[in-house]
Amino acid sequence: MTRAGVYLDYNASGLVRPQAAEAVADALARGGNPSSVHQLGRAARRTVEQAREQVAALAGAEPSQIIFTGGGTEANNQAILGAAVSRVIISAIEHDSVHEMAFAGPFETDVVPVNGDGVADAEALARLLTSGDERPTLVSVMLANNETGVIQPVQTIAEVAHSAGALVHCDGVQAAGKIAVDFKDLGVDMLSLSGHKIGGPQGIGALIVRAGLDLAPLLHGGKQERGHRSGTENVPGIAGFGAAAKVARESLGEFTQLAALRDRLESRVRDFAPDAPVHGANGPRLPNTSCLSMPGVSSETQVIAFDLEGIMVSAGAACSSGKVQASGVLTAMGAPEREVESAVRVSLGWASTPADVDRFVAAWSALHERLCSGEATPAAMRSACHG
Ligand code: PLP
Repeated sequence: MTRAGVYLDYNASGLVRPQAAEAVADALARGGNPSSVHQLGRAARRTVEQAREQVAALAGAEPSQIIFTGGGTEANNQAILGAAVSRVIISAIEHDSVHEMAFAGPFETDVVPVNGDGVADAEALARLLTSGDERPTLVSVMLANNETGVIQPVQTIAEVAHSAGALVHCDGVQAAGKIAVDFKDLGVDMLSLSGHKIGGPQGIGALIVRAGLDLAPLLHGGKQERGHRSGTENVPGIAGFGAAAKVARESLGEFTQLAALRDRLESRVRDFAPDAPVHGANGPRLPNTSCLSMPGVSSETQVIAFDLEGIMVSAGAACSSGKVQASGVLTAMGAPEREVESAVRVSLGWASTPADVDRFVAAWSALHERLCSGEATPAAMRSACHG
């Protein structure tokens, strides 16, 4: 199938890898319930267990530590609710599936700030944990941010949290398949993954849980996934997730090279508009992500204008209705309001090419020229762009 346009929104959903699409189609065509003892059931079980090994290999975990879930959101919710703690500490830049759960559950919640580069403050966490509070605590910090791509010091955070007796969960949804992720090296107790961020299908994810950790299930029923996640397994989704994990692991080197393409995009935008802010550019970042502002031109206007040119990107954060909301991530980083309101996220992936980047840069420059420097631009808008 050919795809019209330039897709630069892999952090929303990666384009599905052909190997993953094939695995989904095969599993669908074959059918069978992995709990059935007959041969079709046993074949479905083999598909699930092979995918479990592939996902475990991508994340440096043991297959027995993988619980398949209905996506990253469910994995994050289960980690936080299932830990059954009375206090939760999250960073200020967590995805809504962590943030909202952390404020919805039967526990008290504290938030650790991030610095101007978008990196969570491990010292602030240490202060929160040594305040004499003895309550069972879970710390949840993501590995890479979905909007800026900034990579968090999760190993340090895990050491700080563990030395105070807290459990640690990490949302690894945006990091897996983009940088090397090793569950053991991270030293966390739980790690969330999602299929559609690594070139697999949507609606499938995993929570990796360290051996011996007692985690309550969200769903009760048939006791699939060793009682951790009841409900007949999504065999096609799991098969596609496994296939995508295998390709993602084999292509990590190629993915790293996307940084050169991303850097070229940013430097060409800055050749054109030297003051264009790139959020998180001074922190350690995923190789594929760029979050840049065109001050004075709203994110929504830009996303629509790029779409008219056939270029698909995201505003900093969009809620499910498609309505653009101001980014809490950039605000937490201390970005001025006019930069927050004009931020656009560009995220590259396995099918991105230099020509895609050139098309984006040409469209960005043309939009900037038209709305920020053109003679026809009202004076108020010109000063908003440059001021
Ligand atoms: N965590 C992060 C950092 C994400 O970016 C997302 C999706 O955007 C999720 C969790 C949720 O994953 P899913 O869409 O699989 O529910």
